[in-house]
Amino acid sequence: MTQRDLFLRYVAQTSDSPLLLNIDQADGIYLCDTDGKIYIDLIAGISVSNLGHCFPTVVEAIHEQAQRYSHLMVYGEYAYSPQVELAKLLCSVLPRTLDNVYFVNSGSEAVEGALKLAKRFTNRSELISCYDSYHGSTHGALSVSGNEMRQQAFRPLLPDVRHIHYNNLTDLQYITERTAAVIIEPVQAERGVVLPNKEFLLQLRQRCLETGALLILDEIQTGFGRTGTLFAFEQLGFVPDILLLGKAFGGGLPLGAFVANRRYMQCLTHQPVLGHITTFGGNALCCAASLATLKVLLTENYVVSVAEKAQIFHRLLSQHQHIKAFRQFGLLMAIELEDFTTTKRIIDRCIEKGLITDWFLFADNCLRIAPPLIITEPQIIYACRIIIEAIDEVVGQEGKIML
Ligand code: PMP
Repeated sequence: MTQRDLFLRYVAQTSDSPLLLNIDQADGIYLCDTDGKIYIDLIAGISVSNLGHCFPTVVEAIHEQAQRYSHLMVYGEYAYSPQVELAKLLCSVLPRTLDNVYFVNSGSEAVEGALKLAKRFTNRSELISCYDSYHGSTHGALSVSGNEMRQQAFRPLLPDVRHIHYNNLTDLQYITERTAAVIIEPVQAERGVVLPNKEFLLQLRQRCLETGALLILDEIQTGFGRTGTLFAFEQLGFVPDILLLGKAFGGGLPLGAFVANRRYMQCLTHQPVLGHITTFGGNALCCAASLATLKVLLTENYVVSVAEKAQIFHRLLSQHQHIKAFRQFGLLMAIELEDFTTTKRIIDRCIEKGLITDWFLFADNCLRIAPPLIITEPQIIYACRIIIEAIDEVVGQEGKIML
């Protein structure tokens, strides 16, 4: 049996069409498979590898930490230095009110913790989120994700969840004194990068203040530099009550966090004591990788360079005749095409040509482009040339078939 056969046989599958690449080594923006074929990684493991693969100081930090210790005790008992240093540095770059970090293992767990915190702090039960949002696959996170197709097979989910329309000012009236929290993304990534209306976000912030509902911002996909600032909210003119991190936050290792004011966080300490606990949350290796990543993002110019790189993608892709729309928030981008069949064929063609892209959960007619932030201008130009060639070949062929 080949490695692929073994994968299909023994590893639980999430779809009937996995990409099935068998990667031997990754470096920077490149992946190399076991046959020696090189690919450009234009999705960064779905917005994870913001510094590319095997960034030297991150590898060094993991190596060094692995030689000291990895897991010693469940979260919340020992004062691990990588965890403490990471929490301190993170709080130093966040607004004053976001001064306390709860570490978990993934984005979904950050969502779960934040929902519990909001319910416990406000003593309310209603949770509000947006249609077409994605917040994760665990029960609570799925309950506040706004996609009926994904939810229906798993009902009953959390009670007292209401959905509102993203960017719809009128719907803000549904946030009331009954609402524990509103959870929202700074851009609806899985809907194919649907951008926020700033006025909507500002009024949402105001409405939460008026009603006492906590505003939870899901920056699991946008955080750690992807949009051109360390966090997207810096460009949107408001500060959330609870900030959610995951994906790129772990520097390639599994790490999530919810960050809030210490006054809120203290509710998880009492009545009941140990109100939220996790064995591996804030694992020392993961925190060491995250800390090394954050230090690079704060000292080198990768985050600042996002705007310029995003512009190059825009210039090269947005005007193409077969592209129906091009949406981006920094280096989180969607190329809208005709339909899923076309998109899938273009993805397959790109992979044949040595470039990895993907589609979005709720927008299967869009190509996902989310490269490592370290990508260079010549690499962007080369990658866009491959994408355009693939689109022209597939759409051109479709034209011929139709004739
Ligand atoms: N929120 C957002 C915006 C996400 O993009 C994701 C993952 N795609 C999650 C939450 C869930 O994160 P995880 O897969 O790490 O549980």
